[in-house]
This record gives sequence, structure tokens and C-alpha cells, in this order.
Amino acid sequence: MHAPSFNFMRLFEAIIDANHRAVAGDAEAGLHPDDFMDSLPVVALTCIDPRLNGYFPNALALPPEQFIWLRNAGNIITSGLSSTMRSLALACAVKGGREIAVIGHTDCQVAKTTAMALLERLKALGVDRSKLPENLNEFFGIFASERQNVIKACDFVRHSPLIGPGVPVHGLLIDIETGKLDWVVNGYDTLAMAVHKVASGSHVLGNLETFKDFEMGEMKFPEMRIGEAAMPSKPVPMPTPPAIPTGAVPPPLPQPSTPPPLKMTPPPPIKPHPVYKSRY
Ligand SMILES: [Zn+2]
Repeated sequence: MHAPSFNFMRLFEAIIDANHRAVAGDAEAGLHPDDFMDSLPVVALTCIDPRLNGYFPNALALPPEQFIWLRNAGNIITSGLSSTMRSLALACAVKGGREIAVIGHTDCQVAKTTAMALLERLKALGVDRSKLPENLNEFFGIFASERQNVIKACDFVRHSPLIGPGVPVHGLLIDIETGKLDWVVNGYDTLAMAVHKVASGSHVLGNLETFKDFEMGEMKFPEMRIGEAAMPSKPVPMPTPPAIPTGAVPPPLPQPSTPPPLKMTPPPPIKPHPVYKSRY
């Protein structure tokens, strides 16, 4: 049986294929990031669990420079405009992220913690109940199912007005014991469905609906960015170029040197390393 060719797969399909083959013991499993440059870098949101530290980006067979890593407790997104959501938006707009993946994990302690247990632990840490909001589940985004949490997060990201409609939003779950990745939400499929819905006119208000809580009229756009007030307010003078005497021949501009020819030998594929060395 022939191994499937990566060329027919989109980035995350190739990632999951390579990951599954590596977990199954295939020492040749891997992917060539050069084949997927239109989809890189990726932006990933994972949990803060330290057991994940050794998995990323190795388990995805991606080089570190193509992996923009956001983390919060439980890889939770509480709204389409939340703080994490804003970071995802900036990861795409400022750092050039092309695809987004929310990656939950098995045995997540957030999923095992009830609101009552959390209250007890916060109390033990000296946190006053009266300072906390009434609905802790809603406030912290506590969930009972890692899979449902990923689906919910993907839904928030997909419909967030801060994320471009052409950015695929994937949901994955990683097995904390084996490093095996599984699909929860195939972002290529949901993207195609969203395009179809918009084309048929059946669902065009999705993004607008999330603006319900957003007071557009109250938005202010100060000219200064945070921290910019501390910068010197005077413009920095530009150095004056030396005057060229009339009639003199200006010196020739330096010519760019010819770039070296591109090497034709492709680099070896990056192999997923789903097995981590140290255990906690
Ligand atoms: Zn977790």
C-alpha cells in the first residue's frame, strides 16, 4: 500500500496524517513546510498545562518559526471579542498567521474542576467570594468536555468580527499520553460551508450579531498607542545628506549583487515527535 502523497492534502490534513503515522511508529513520517508556505505560519491556542510544553510544535511537525503559540487555562474563548480573541486577531494581522487551530487536550484539569471546587481552591488562596462574579462557570468558561470546549471556541473564532472570513479555523484534540492529534473541527470544511451560506444568502448576519455587546458609538481611536506617550514627542531629525556640487557627477549607486542560485535539494522533512522525554 502506497503512502498518501502530501501534495493532495491541505496543511492540517498533512499534519494529522504525519502525526498519526509517527504515533504508529513510522520513522519516515513528516512533512515539508516548503510545500505549505501559503498556509504558514499557523496560530495555535492551547492550554497552559505544562505537560504540553514538550509537544509543540513537534507533534505538528512544524518548525518553531512557523508556530505562533497562544496559551490560556483550558484553551477557552469566552466571546468573539475577548482578550484571547484579540490576541488571535493580532497574531493574524501583525504576525501574519494564515490558519488558526484551537488544540484541546485529554485529561484537562479545567474540565475536571467544578465551580464549587474552584471556589474552595480560590478561598484557600485568600480570594474573597464577594469579589467574584455570581456565575463562575460563565466567567471562567469552565467546561466539562474537552471536545465540546474546542467546538465552542472554534465557533467563537469562526464568527468573530476580528477574524478574516478566509482564515481556516480548526479544532483539534491532543492525547496527553501519546501526542496523537485528532480532528474535532475541520476548518477547511466549515470555511467551505460558510462560503456556501453567504453565497446563498441564508446566513449573512453571523458577524454582525456578535457586535451586540459592542458599543460602536463609544469606540475611540486615540492617535497614540499604549506606551507611546513615554516616547520623545519631538520628531527625530533626519540626517542631512551631503550636498552634491553643481555639475559634479554623483557617485554610482552600489549595485545589488547577484543572489546565489537556489539549492535544488529539498530539506529533509520535519518529523513529528509526539513522544515527550520528561514526565511530571
Ligand atoms: Zn488543560
